[in-house]
Amino acid sequence: MSNSTKLVLDFDNTENAFSVLSNSELKQSAWLFGMMKNATLVNLGSRATMLALKFRLPITWAIKRTIYEQFCGGSTLKECVPDIDKMAKYGVTTMLDYGTEGKQTESDFNKTMRFTNDSILFAEQNETVQVVVVKLTGLMEFRLLEKLQNGERLNPREQKFYETGLKRIDSICRLASEKGVQIYIDAEESWIQDPVDNIALDMMRQYNKEKAIVFNTYQMYRHDRLAFLKKCVSMAKAEQFIMAAKVVRGAYIDKERARAKNKGYPSPIQPNKATTDKDYNEAMLFCVENYEFISVCAATHNAESSLLLANKMEEEGIPRNHPHFTFCQLYGMSDNLTFNLSKAGFTASKYLVYGPVKDVLPYLVRRAQENSSVTGEVGRELGMIKKEIKRRGI
Ligand SMILES: Cc1cc2nc3c(=O)[nH]c(=O)nc-3n(C[C@H](O)[C@H](O)[C@H](O)COP(=O)(O)OP(=O)(O)OC[C@H]3O[C@@H](n4cnc5c(N)ncnc54)[C@H](O)[C@@H]3O)c2cc1C
Repeated sequence: MSNSTKLVLDFDNTENAFSVLSNSELKQSAWLFGMMKNATLVNLGSRATMLALKFRLPITWAIKRTIYEQFCGGSTLKECVPDIDKMAKYGVTTMLDYGTEGKQTESDFNKTMRFTNDSILFAEQNETVQVVVVKLTGLMEFRLLEKLQNGERLNPREQKFYETGLKRIDSICRLASEKGVQIYIDAEESWIQDPVDNIALDMMRQYNKEKAIVFNTYQMYRHDRLAFLKKCVSMAKAEQFIMAAKVVRGAYIDKERARAKNKGYPSPIQPNKATTDKDYNEAMLFCVENYEFISVCAATHNAESSLLLANKMEEEGIPRNHPHFTFCQLYGMSDNLTFNLSKAGFTASKYLVYGPVKDVLPYLVRRAQENSSVTGEVGRELGMIKKEIKRRGI
């Protein structure tokens, strides 16, 4: 790349980054991130909170006023509207995620489908909400996916449940396609990911003929995923559908490594962070080189990867708001990326989780644990907030 084409994006500009936050919201974030820095406190707090909710102790209010407010939009779609509107003022779009996890009954799965469909109808009415997120384990049993991946036969009852799950997924993708809303399918544990990938590919074949509606997720912390991403693009070219990929590093690293060790199989995870970063960045470059065939969402809090993608787009003369490129961060995190990217004219989005406190708790615990790590990009969050507090003189 010649230096003259190099894009200047200042991710350290805290004025843009936190323009959406009032003084009191900024101070509240500083307090919360300060608390979360303490790993012991986070671990104790996470366990105590789970127990308190289990025994129905009245702590919902305290959670709602603190960590929930930082990372979630509200209990209902309606409650999310102020946050969606606030972000829209700065050109930031929203991806809606009904954050329920670990559900196991058919009635729970139907409920998740109804909530997801409601989100699609809500997105249709709201210009700045273009994406609805789903986890396939919210729509069918984890155990069935695991059996399929192991090559085990489903008994007739399980087969019936599996087919009902497929119908739920298809009905969500069909509605999304009719309403022009995109569906992002999350990536989960490697021991169920093969059937998740197969289902996602089938949905893409069906609904991505003219534009990208269904997105699958590719976790670059797995050493085989860059090759798989490339293989999917070849398939899409041959079968003439638009490949759509959300590219992440991956959220289940400890669980993945522990299971591989316990069961004595080679870990699917990269040997170290540098190899994960290398594959992630290579995926970004590959997507730009093939952008006519692939729509990509760079779902990351990593400044270097985001800058690399933005620069490569610029170098290739791709318009910053090209519909095949989206940058996305989780709500409550890395505003310095989202708001500076948006200000520069790129499509920047926030993943906004919503739902009742007890349902989104596993998500909140992951956020707290992630932010208690002082290494990596997330460790910078508190520093950025403090810098902005100083700049405002508050
Ligand atoms: C919008 C959005 C959607 C997401 N959706 C999903 C999803 O569907 N499925 C999913 O699994 N995750 C998802 N994630 C989480 C994501 O996978 C990462 O865990 C998280 O974003 C941190 O990675 P990073 O790229 O932001 O930043 P960084 O801080 O640069 O990277 C941290 C990540 O690097 C990897 N890593 C760290 N140490 C090592 C090591 N020693 N060896 C190898 N790799 C290492 C891990 O993946 C770790 O999470 C999503 C994230 C975002 C922002």
